[in-house]
Amino acid sequence: MRRNRPEAGRRHGGVPDWLKVKTGKAGLTRRTRALLHDCGVHTVCEAAMCPNIGECFNCGTATFMLLGDVCTRDCRFCAVSHGDPAPPDPEEPGNVAEAAARLGLRFVVLTCVTRDDLPDGGAGQFVATMAALRERLPEVRIEVLTSDFGGDSAPLDAVLAARPTVYNHNVETVRRLQSAVRPQADYERSLAVLRHAAAHAPEAIVKSGLMVGLGETRQEVGEALGDLADAGCRVVTIGQYLRPSPAHLPVERYVTPEEFALYERMGLERGLARVVSGPFVRSSYHAAEAAEI
Ligand code: SF4
Repeated sequence: MRRNRPEAGRRHGGVPDWLKVKTGKAGLTRRTRALLHDCGVHTVCEAAMCPNIGECFNCGTATFMLLGDVCTRDCRFCAVSHGDPAPPDPEEPGNVAEAAARLGLRFVVLTCVTRDDLPDGGAGQFVATMAALRERLPEVRIEVLTSDFGGDSAPLDAVLAARPTVYNHNVETVRRLQSAVRPQADYERSLAVLRHAAAHAPEAIVKSGLMVGLGETRQEVGEALGDLADAGCRVVTIGQYLRPSPAHLPVERYVTPEEFALYERMGLERGLARVVSGPFVRSSYHAAEAAEI
């Protein structure tokens, strides 16, 4: 595939029209923001400056970020701050459950900063939070979006044993760009995590996600979609990378809505059950609908 064709968006230039649609709709309502603050919880919706923030909350979905808001890794695309995180907060599972109940959520996504400093990678906090959520909201469906746990299967098994509706782990980008985009991660290790989840929790929907616009070719996206299907993924999200600040990787190109539609077809052809693909798609975008397969 030829990159940076004029019709495929402008490199490093202004934002194309199709990405301006949500301008002015990105803010959480004051009430919701106050409620989250009151409960003392972090949402990735805020930490990652997600453009879909209002839309998801209106649909009864939210993505809570467990284990604080400081990550032990430093991915070059991510707006989350990195450094030495605080110890896990024992109140956090109850606080997340309280916030979810007060927001009337029916589908909750739990993710976390990567905690390479913890012996279990934070798996125990996922399990405790899932239990707290089910106690408050017995009908709630839960998607977990975890780190790779450094390739350790024990914490992954602990999370899978808690029976998430969806198990999600993102490869984030194509194989060739891994070290530039997420230097402390590894493409093969992420595929192994997904393969393990598909084999050990067959009742869970295994899901992954990719950003595009980082310099990948169309062929590389196709290969990644094939790798994910082969690993047992059934759902994949694909969205436009947007640079959180000048300190992060630049946007190499803006992918057109037509090309996102092509990626969806490519994923389905490779055996995926659902590909949620579009400029504003993020890992948890319309997570409840994506789980309806
Ligand atoms: S591991 Fe996750 S939270 Fe941490 S820097 Fe990378 S993308 Fe951000």
